[in-house]
Formats: sequence, structure tokens, C-alpha cells
Amino acid sequence: MMNGKTKIVLADDSKSIRAKLTELIEKKGYECVTASDGIECIKKVFEESPSFVILDVKMPVMSGYQACRFLKNHPLTSKIPVMLLTALDQPIDELWGYEAGADYYKSKAQDVNVLVDEVDKIIKESNFKPSFKSKEISEKEILSFLNDFLDKRIFEISMINEIAQLSYKISSLSDVIESCAKTLSKMLEPYFIAFAIADDRGAKINVWSNYEYGIHIEEFNAYIKEILHDSGFNNLSFDYSLGKEPIPGNYYDKREFLYVDPYETLTDKEFQTLRGGVFFCYNKDSYESLKRVAFILPHILLVINNCLLHKKIVDMSITDELTTLYNRRKIMEILNIEIDRANRYGYELSLIIADIDFFKKVNDTYGHNMGDAVLKKVSMILRNSIRKVDYVGRFGGEEFIIISPETSLQNALLLAERIRKIFNSFIMEGLNTPVTLSFGISSYTPGKDLDTLINEADTALYEAKNSGRNQVKVYKG
Ligand code: GH3
Ligand code: MG
Ligand code: MG
Repeated sequence: MMNGKTKIVLADDSKSIRAKLTELIEKKGYECVTASDGIECIKKVFEESPSFVILDVKMPVMSGYQACRFLKNHPLTSKIPVMLLTALDQPIDELWGYEAGADYYKSKAQDVNVLVDEVDKIIKESNFKPSFKSKEISEKEILSFLNDFLDKRIFEISMINEIAQLSYKISSLSDVIESCAKTLSKMLEPYFIAFAIADDRGAKINVWSNYEYGIHIEEFNAYIKEILHDSGFNNLSFDYSLGKEPIPGNYYDKREFLYVDPYETLTDKEFQTLRGGVFFCYNKDSYESLKRVAFILPHILLVINNCLLHKKIVDMSITDELTTLYNRRKIMEILNIEIDRANRYGYELSLIIADIDFFKKVNDTYGHNMGDAVLKKVSMILRNSIRKVDYVGRFGGEEFIIISPETSLQNALLLAERIRKIFNSFIMEGLNTPVTLSFGISSYTPGKDLDTLINEADTALYEAKNSGRNQVKVYKG
């Protein structure tokens, strides 16, 4: 600043507006350097190192948006405050202005005196100091910088778009992880990538690589284990998706490891479900590409997190909280599906309703907490007693439903008898007598609907209760 005056670069293609604004700006004691299009403006900014830039949005050759995008992304000029001036007053124009990085966005429609007062106030209140020496920049350099920058942005947006598409696969975590690993591989050509998804029981680690299995992968696993152990995850299981290529000869000279902690990357902690992390093993020569993937990692972690959140909510909506069995809504949904299947394919289907005997007494004698503990224990025993094809849910209070697809009334009777005997064979901790259950069984015949099937099992259960409890009864129409 040879003359000590603070400099403003003003770009507008209208001669009269330039003249008017220059006059007012100089009256405030600033030096005003003008340009009539975006490219000229960038050149002037480099030459003058100003304290402020005013850019008309609509100019020939290069618009104000484009010039602003250049200035805001070039390391030399990015800190200089920029004001975009516009005759356009749609909200989308303003949004685009801020997208381009503008610090201020003002309408040309307002009184120019007021506008210049505002500029004056902003400069006085700002602590920005011009920091570089005058520098020449050619049109070629300007265009080449802008092209590189736009290319990089298009690349980033394409990658983000690819990740965003994964939101449609929200119900399949393994699909999402696979696609994320593939997208990252395209950008980085890593030796390996691993996603660790942890919960209270431990962590599942998916390892991805184009290279074959070998001690190099075991070394990577050891690195992952150490970090996860330090975070308190001990029960680890590894899953591999590997290629067939032999590991390059110079691998041990080039390899670097990196761990990304989702807790530091995701911003909304309240909805954070993802625990664990992303692990990389990359060639240290590709450190620059690694920096480039940094922008996409938060998007990847967000998609994985949403996937886990979705799963958690689905689980919650079908599970009874106390017993972790299916809740009534879910078990009824399953029964409907099984009735349809039995009807369509002519399968057999049986239904067992089980009810704890004198459960009220357990509550009255030992307290509600003990009652809850008994419900949990009974649920666990029921779950462990049924076959893989059967379903068990909590129907309400101390009543349970077992659905046995492709099972005759006779076989359902055997199943219920077996379960009944298990409960007779031991005494639960804290109680004085065995907990017993009564069972009612019904069977599907063509044309029977869900309500009928349940009413019949209920009738049989009532009979079991009336015949002294701790019994199994089948419905006889
Ligand atoms: P019966 O042999 O005729 O089935 O007698 P019962 O006492 O088991 O049946 P009743 O229907 O009279 O009482 C059921 C009791 O179950 C009453 C209720 O307070 C209790 N109960 C229902 N849900 C829960 C629960 O979630 N926790 C606890 N602790 N008790 C529950
Ligand atoms: Mg009962
Ligand atoms: Mg009951």
C-alpha cells in the first residue's frame, strides 16, 4: 500500500455503475481499482492484493460467481472478503452466491449510498490484512487453475453421489460395506481396507483387498486388534474378501497403516450407532490420494451409521423389551404369513399358547423384579427349546405363542410336552417351587383364519388350566 489507502477491487461490466461506485468508495477514503469482467478482476486482485472485492454477478467472459469461486479456492486469495452484487433476487441466486464462497451477497436494487456505507462498515470491523505481494497471473493460469478445481469438485461430487446411492440399500449392511470398500478402492488403490463394526458383544471386521491372504494381512489384523482391544472390544471376528494378486515385492518398504475413528468423524453424536472404525493399509507414495479420500469418509461413515440405526429401529419395533422375544405385533405378522404359506402349499401348521401358572403369586411373594426375572428366564428356556423353524413371541403378560410351521397337531403336542417337562425338572434360583406352564394347541386346516386359530388354542389352554394346570391340551372341535 504505497499511498497508505486501503484498496478495494470493484468489478462490474456497466461503466456507469463502476463510475458511481468508484466515486462513493473514494469519498470514504479508499482506493478503488476497477475491472469490467471476471478474468480482469482476478488479475487485478493478484496485482493489487486488496482488502475487499466487490463483484457484479452478471459479467461477460467470466461471471461474478465463477470469479468468486476462483478467489475463494485459490490459496493466495481465499481469505480476502468478497461481496457479490446482483440484480437477481431469487433465493436460489443467493444460495448459489454463498455456494461460490461469497462472504456477502447484496442486491443492486438498494440505494448505492447505503451499499457503500455497508462496505465501509464491514472493512472497518474486519481484521483482514492483505498478506501477499503483488503478483502477475496470466489468463492461462487462471483457466488452468479453475479447470483443475472444477475437475476435482466433479470427481468429489461423483464419488459422493455414488455413496449417496447406497442409502437405497439401507437394509443390507453387508452390501453397503462392500460398495463403500469398492468406492474407496477406486480412489486410493489401497493394499487393504477394513471396516470394523462393533457392538456390546464384540466386533466384526470385514477386510478387503485385491491381494491374496498372507502374513502381511496377519500383520494388518494385529494392528486392528491392538486398536480395538485398546477401545475395549475383545471378542473379534474377521471376515475376508480377498483377491488373488501376490503382494508387491516392495510392500514392507511402502506400507503405512491408518485408523479412522467414527466418533471423531460423525458430527451428530446423539444418533451415532456406529462403533469400531475404518482401517487402511496404503502405499506411502499414495499419501496424496489418501488426503483426497478424507472428504468422502464422513459420507461413508454416515451411510453405514444410518444402516445400523435402521437395523436398530427395526429390531426395536419387532422385539419385546423385557424378554427380547418377538413382540405381539411381530408374532401376529409371522402367523399371518405362515397361514398364507400353509394355505398355498397345503402345509400343516400348529400353534401353541403357553401361560405361566399362578404367576401372580410369584409377583406377590417375591416382588415384581423377581417376576420380571422369571419372565426372562422362561423366555430363554422357550427360545432354546423350540426347533430352528419355529417362532416364539410374547403374546402379552405371562403368555407366549409358539408357531410351528409344517408341524402336525401330534408333533406340536410332543414339543409342548417336552417343554412342559423341562420346567418341571428344576427350581429357578430364588424360588421355592418349580415354575410351571399350561399349554393349549390348535392346528391349521384349510380355510381357518388367524383369529379362529388363536381362539382354539386359547380354548385348549383354558381347559389345561381348568384341569389342574401344568398340562398340555389340544383343541378338539
Ligand atoms: P393362571 O395360572 O390362571 O394363569 O394364574 P396367573 O396368576 O398366572 O394369571 P393372572 O392372569 O391372574 O395374573 C397374571 C399376572 O402376570 C398379573 C400381572 O401383574 C403379571 N404380569 C404381567 N406382565 C408382567 C410383567 O411384565 N412383569 C411382571 N413382573 N409381572 C407381570
Ligand atoms: Mg398365568
Ligand atoms: Mg394370563
